[in-house]
Amino acid sequence: MPRFAYVNGQFVPHQDASIHIEDRGYQFADGVYEVTPILKGTLIDEDPHLDRLERSLRELRIDMPMSRAAIKLVSAELMRRNRLTNGFIYIQVTRGVAPRDHKFPKAAKPALVMTTRQTRLPSEKVLNEGVGVATSPDIRWQRCDIKSVSLLPNILAKQQAVEAGAYEAWMVDAEGRVTEGSSTNAWIVTGDNKLVTRNATNSILNGITRMTLLKVAAAEGVTLEERPFTLEEAKTAKEAFLTSSSNFVMPVTRIDDQPVGNGHPGLLTMRLREGYLDFVQGGETAH
Ligand code: PLP
Repeated sequence: MPRFAYVNGQFVPHQDASIHIEDRGYQFADGVYEVTPILKGTLIDEDPHLDRLERSLRELRIDMPMSRAAIKLVSAELMRRNRLTNGFIYIQVTRGVAPRDHKFPKAAKPALVMTTRQTRLPSEKVLNEGVGVATSPDIRWQRCDIKSVSLLPNILAKQQAVEAGAYEAWMVDAEGRVTEGSSTNAWIVTGDNKLVTRNATNSILNGITRMTLLKVAAAEGVTLEERPFTLEEAKTAKEAFLTSSSNFVMPVTRIDDQPVGNGHPGLLTMRLREGYLDFVQGGETAH
């Protein structure tokens, strides 16, 4: 367990960290969050994550709880105190504490919680085999571009996928097109080596990994198409993979128990994984 969390202005022992029972995040899921990865002791894409935090807050008319510079200082201090090497920082901001009432409270101050988690990178075995995804209807709201803590449909989709023996859920819209994973973005490679991922509208969360990988792919001369793709197209794709701050680039080798391509992680997928890791660790690929 990590040693410290940061809650509303104070570093507190993680096991003692708590929030008020009338925090609107707890009662209404009235808040947003960010997950910033840490690789070999360094935060990856910290500014883009804080840009997205600011955007999500702006969309919900919640103030930043403190300055970006202060959040960065707390992140660095939490990493130091918790001796983080690989893992992530979790930042959650809610509209604050107020007597339960749907309308915005007049006086509440945004509440801030920051925690860390040490994680392991995926094993060679997982990377060599790739993972399976199971599909389910996308039953979410129309502002999936906001990184809201309201994640019930994502949780239900993920649980259904796990119970079907899969690693992640891919959600499919009413037109039969893949939106994204429960906590990841979805990608395919077509038979003629085009890299396809859904365009960033209100239907998906625009992943920070997604945006960085688009740059890496462009720098590597890969042909990109940002557009919706159907589940059928995904099932007959040459390669598939998912991206997120906790997976980076993860090959998908099964969709609903059907093999993707030859059933092994794709060549372009693995090249992009390397290119991504190289880039975020200061390599040259997309500078
Ligand atoms: N899509 C959803 C619904 C997510 O929750 C996440 C991450 O939590 C992502 C995509 C991937 O975003 P990122 O690459 O910023 O981690």
